[in-house]
Amino acid sequence: MIIIMEPHVTQESKEFKDLLKYLERFPHLKVKVIENKGVTRNLLEVHLIGEDYMVSQEEIESLPGVEKAIKVTTKYRLIGRHGVLKDLGFEYKGLKFDQDSFHIFAGLCAVDTQENAEAIFKALKENGVECARMGAYKPRTSPYDFQGLGKECLPWLFELAGKYDVKIIVMEVLDKSHIEEIQEALEKTGHPCGVILQIGTRNAQNFELLKAVGRQKEFPVLYKRGYGLSLEESLNAAEYIASEGNTKIIFCLRGVRTHLGDPHRNLVDFAHVPVVKRLTRLPVCIDPSHPIGSRVKAPDGIRDIYHVTAQGVIVGANAVLVEFHPCPERALCDGPQAIPLEELPLYLEYTYKVRETYLELKKLISERSTKD
Ligand code: PEP
Ligand code: MN
Repeated sequence: MIIIMEPHVTQESKEFKDLLKYLERFPHLKVKVIENKGVTRNLLEVHLIGEDYMVSQEEIESLPGVEKAIKVTTKYRLIGRHGVLKDLGFEYKGLKFDQDSFHIFAGLCAVDTQENAEAIFKALKENGVECARMGAYKPRTSPYDFQGLGKECLPWLFELAGKYDVKIIVMEVLDKSHIEEIQEALEKTGHPCGVILQIGTRNAQNFELLKAVGRQKEFPVLYKRGYGLSLEESLNAAEYIASEGNTKIIFCLRGVRTHLGDPHRNLVDFAHVPVVKRLTRLPVCIDPSHPIGSRVKAPDGIRDIYHVTAQGVIVGANAVLVEFHPCPERALCDGPQAIPLEELPLYLEYTYKVRETYLELKKLISERSTKD
């Protein structure tokens, strides 16, 4: 059961303390409290874990300060929507992330030189983009490939982000120690920007890493679906993050591995955007770069990466994670799929147009559609 408290109730309130007292009569139940300063309201939830069939929903709902009690029958206890719950949403560095917001995380697959990182940040600023993607730790198929500059690049990277008013960098971590290194570098440089920790597809079921990013509450997490996992397995894995206390999660679709996707690198799975939004309370991101794997153009002159960006955005994606490089031929990682940086304004214009169309269509449907 999930008990949702009224918006004014906090963990210090008498109503909350009285509820905990009431629940003491069920000593076999584990009580987990989730407090989330959401975008629109303070959300205080009390989760009863274990056999809760003897707890009366009616009685709980009659207690002061309780807004409603929900019998949880489906999976994904914390991230799940359970049919009635509103999306979680969170705010980070002044930006709002929920199932209505829209952000673009554009930048380098792998940070290589200061000049290239600076060129990206400068272009983002000139085009009014507040978030970047920047890989410092790279999970490569071959141990002999470039593994990323690691912690050495973090101080100058964060300072450069601050210089160009980039508020947030999305950065993959492969190990718990990377979280500490990011924390240290931010501390050392006086927090010029924020960081969203990315869990890559190869670590989608690395439960210890998921628990580590879940235990800390400083950084939100962008979790990428496992490329060989069912959606259910990936959602369960994302639940690991929330189960440790961090519910600031963005769920990212990035294609799945099957030869049926050939000649693209992976099969695009963006039809799952509305599914994830229905099953969970998380904002959903799409990554068009990795499933396509190259910057080829279709006969209409539009790159496949643009076409699939549109596929994800038109079905309601809340964010796009996409790779650019000032000189793609010289990129040390994923060069073939990097869009030339000079094309950033065009890509943004294209993507925002699709987003506007989605919003218009959403309005049209809400005015005209029939029930169910
Ligand atoms: C990346 O974003 O650069 C990356 C390695 O992505 P994925 O984990 O989806 O392959
Ligand atoms: Mn990449």
